Amino acid sequence: MTKKYDLIIAGGGIMASSLAYNLRRDGYTGSIAVFEKDRMYEFSSTPRSYGGVRHTFSIEGNIRLSQLSVKLYERFEQDMAMDGEAAVIDFNQHGYLYLADQDGLAMLKENMKLQHSLGCEIQLMTPEEVKAFVPELVVDDLAGGIFDVKGGNIDPNTVLQWYVRHAKRLGVEYIYEKVQAILTDGQAMTGVKLESGEEYHAPIVVNAAGAWSGELSKTAGLDIPVVPLKKQVYCVDLAEPFDRDIPFVFDTIKATYFQSEGQKIITSSREGSNLFDRDGQLSYHYNFHLDKSFFTNEVWPLLAERSPKFERLKLEQGWAGLYEYNYIDHNGIIGAYPGVKGYYVLTGFSGHGFQQAPAAGKGLSELIRLGRYETLDLTPFSIERFAKNELLLEKEVY
Ligand SMILES: Cc1cc2nc3c(=O)[nH]c(=O)nc-3n(C[C@H](O)[C@H](O)[C@H](O)COP(=O)(O)OP(=O)(O)OC[C@H]3O[C@@H](n4cnc5c(N)ncnc54)[C@H](O)[C@@H]3O)c2cc1C
Repeated sequence: MTKKYDLIIAGGGIMASSLAYNLRRDGYTGSIAVFEKDRMYEFSSTPRSYGGVRHTFSIEGNIRLSQLSVKLYERFEQDMAMDGEAAVIDFNQHGYLYLADQDGLAMLKENMKLQHSLGCEIQLMTPEEVKAFVPELVVDDLAGGIFDVKGGNIDPNTVLQWYVRHAKRLGVEYIYEKVQAILTDGQAMTGVKLESGEEYHAPIVVNAAGAWSGELSKTAGLDIPVVPLKKQVYCVDLAEPFDRDIPFVFDTIKATYFQSEGQKIITSSREGSNLFDRDGQLSYHYNFHLDKSFFTNEVWPLLAERSPKFERLKLEQGWAGLYEYNYIDHNGIIGAYPGVKGYYVLTGFSGHGFQQAPAAGKGLSELIRLGRYETLDLTPFSIERFAKNELLLEKEVY
C-alpha cells in the first residue's frame, strides 16, 4: 500500500513541528505528513532539554537565530493562543550568567562586542558585582562575569505541544510510525518506507529526526555528521535554599551549570559525555541511563566549591537525554542536501536546538516554499559547508 504527500518530515520533535507549522502558516498548500516513532516523546530530546535560551554565541548566525527565536518566544503566549486559551510556556527570563577566569573572560568579552553590535543586552560584571547579584557565590577565583539579560528558560515540552497542536489544526497529518528508510531513485527523493513495509511517497523529504537523523540518512546512503551524545541533568534539594531565584549560571572555570527550578536546583556538568573510544574512534550509543555517581563524584564537589549552599543537598531525581550532536562543528545543519533533489535536513544543533527551533523552522520553510531565505540568511548553516571547509567555529557551545 502506498500513499502520496507533497512533503514528508521524518521525526516529529520541535524542529519538525516548527517547520510544519511555519510552512502552513506562511501559505504552503501542499499536503504534509510528519512521521514520529515515539508518540509520547518519551526519549525525544526536546522534552529532555533544559529549555535554556541565550544570545551568548560567538558567530553571527547563531546570535541571529537565537535573537529571532527569543522574540518569537516572548510573543508565543499571544501568537499561539488557540480558541481563547493562552499558549502558556513558562518563559522565565531570569537571565544567563557566565562566571569566568582571566582567559575565559577575555573570550567572552570578545564575543560580547559582536553581541552588542547586533543589539543584544549583555552586561559585563566585576567579581564584586557578581557577588552583589548572588551573595552566596564564591568569587575569589573569578576575573568577572557576563550576564545575558534577556536569556532564561522555557518549558520545552509545552512549546513542542503547542507547535504540534497548531500544525495539526492547519492540516498537517501526524503519523505515529517509525521510518525505516528514506527512499531515493539516486537523483531525487521518492519518499519513506516504514517498519511495517508500507511506503509513503513524496518528492520532498525533510530529515528532522534529531539524534537519530545521521543513522536515518545512512539508509539512503547519504551522510550527515550527526550522532547521539548523552547528557545528564540532576535535580537537587538544598538544605538551605538560596535567598533568590538563581538565573542559569554557567561556571566556565568548573564546567558546571545550575539554576533555580521552583524551590529546587537543576544542575549538571559539561563534562561526562564521550564520543570517542580509547582508540579515538567515533563510538556512540542511544543511552538514557542516569549515572547518579557522576553527580556525587564529579559534579557535587565542584558545586560546593562555588557556593557553601551546595554543601548540604539531596539528589532528588534527574534524567539523561541526547544531543543531536554535529561532531564536526557542533552547530545546526539547515537546508537542501546537494545532489539529491528534494532532500532537506534540519538537525545537528548540538545543545542549542530548542532555543533556535522557532527561527530555524521558519527559515527552512522559506527555503522550501520560495527557494530562498527571506527573514534570516541561513546559507552558512548548509551541509555544503563541510565539503567547502567553511566550518562554523562557535566558541560558546557547551
Ligand atoms: C539534557 C539536554 C539539555 C538540553 N538543553 C538545551 C538548552 O538548554 N537549550 C537548547 O536550546 N537546547 C537544549 N538541548 C538541545 C535540544 O533539546 C535539541 O537541540 C532539540 O530538542 C532538538 O529538537 P529535534 O526536534 O531535532 O529533536 P527531537 O526532539 O529528538 O525530535 C526528533 C524526533 O524524531 C523522532 N524520530 C527519530 N527517528 C525517527 C524515525 N526513524 N522515524 C520516526 N521518527 C523518528 C524521535 O522520536 C524524536 O521525537 C538540550 C538537550 C538535552 C538532551
